[in-house]
Amino acid sequence: MTDTSHDLAELCAKTGTKFILAMFVDLRGKPCAKLVPVEAVDELSTDGVGFAGYAVGAIGQEPKDPDLMAIPDPSSFLPVPFIKEGLAIVHCDPHVEGKPWPFAPRNILKALIAQADSAGFEPWVGAEVEYFLLKREADGSLITADANDDSDRPCYDVRGLTRMYDHLTSVSTAMNQLGWSNYANDHEDGNGQFEQNFAYSDALTTADRVVTLRYLLSTFAAERGMIATFMPKPFAERTGSGLHLHLSLTSNGQPVFPTAFDDTRGLGLSDVAYGFVAGVLEHAPALQSVMAPTVNSYKRTGATATRSGASWAPRVPTYGGNDRTHYVRIPDDQRVELRGGDGSANPYLAIAAALGAGLDGIKRSLDPGALGSCPEHISALPLTLLHAVDALDADPVITATLDAALPADWDAEKETVSAYFAKLKREEFFSWHSAVSSWEVDQYLTAF
Ligand code: GLU
Ligand code: MG
Ligand code: MG
Repeated sequence: MTDTSHDLAELCAKTGTKFILAMFVDLRGKPCAKLVPVEAVDELSTDGVGFAGYAVGAIGQEPKDPDLMAIPDPSSFLPVPFIKEGLAIVHCDPHVEGKPWPFAPRNILKALIAQADSAGFEPWVGAEVEYFLLKREADGSLITADANDDSDRPCYDVRGLTRMYDHLTSVSTAMNQLGWSNYANDHEDGNGQFEQNFAYSDALTTADRVVTLRYLLSTFAAERGMIATFMPKPFAERTGSGLHLHLSLTSNGQPVFPTAFDDTRGLGLSDVAYGFVAGVLEHAPALQSVMAPTVNSYKRTGATATRSGASWAPRVPTYGGNDRTHYVRIPDDQRVELRGGDGSANPYLAIAAALGAGLDGIKRSLDPGALGSCPEHISALPLTLLHAVDALDADPVITATLDAALPADWDAEKETVSAYFAKLKREEFFSWHSAVSSWEVDQYLTAF
């Protein structure tokens, strides 16, 4: 349903849109919006719609700062009549005093796409959104909405698909109405866990779609009295929810990952592809601060330094062929799958950081070593959010990625995006670390 017209008023008229959700996300991935009536569409198109940046959440603004103006990107215009008759969504680029705001994740991804372009590449991305459907019981506890709560082999459960048929098919129909080409829907490996796939696209479109899809899934679930959660690990004993990213590059429209030449590693990949993979592995610890940005994320990737077992979430930054236990899985010669990301990842930042890492590997002609190997100096993925943030601080390539939208004349006194992000994430870690959990009370109350 993407229209090539860049006139928002025209798009609204053509689609019978009466109200527009002018949307963007902050650095934590929180979706924010204002509901704008079509009568104000001209003002929205030219000036954007104003937000008190500090109230938005994590967007690098103080209470005293001037308004954050969200300016719509008309190419992202999406009528969503299946949510509300006459409603459309448009993703926006936050501006402050007429300039793109460097702390806005969408602006950061655009800066990385521009960097890829200067290196001669167009990035393509597919994303897999996994989520749980839950219900809250009268006593406040959370249970899976699907009745397979106690089945120990729920993956691809056929009955689960038919039990959740109305929800799954509403989402599928919506995706196809939007032109996203939903090609499969499955019951995932955890009880009550699902995944609904859509076709890959350019990096910005895919990031926008992840944001929109999370909104659609939560809204559709709520209509049926359920909670859709993207929390990485809602249940200790069940598989977590990933946000796998499939990346590839083209140059002048031609794929650059496959090679016609002999590849001794047998994957049919070019040196450019191996450079990209090596960059991702090399920067994996810092990358995880963005791919897995919550304390809960590290319950998914596990604390044991072995390759992933049947949780399907990686523990060490290795790469391999069509093998789901690796950090980077290479299913075929067209793309590489990064499996480190989870449902709490901000899709703009996760894709931007993956591109930053991969492009660095290409630039430095890095080699990922033998299949299955891990960079020599890295023994495992970070064990906690704090380890990941420390790795981020120590990695100039990934910090530069987060700072990619900072203008050259950015006041040296002012905090950078990467420093601000690291500060937020350290605060989050220590807030969790200082909480006393029921596990601790169980272990220690009468132990001494
Ligand atoms: N749920 C797994 C994860 O957390 C992935 C399962 C799959 O490969 O689809 O990454
Ligand atoms: Mg999956
Ligand atoms: Mg996958």
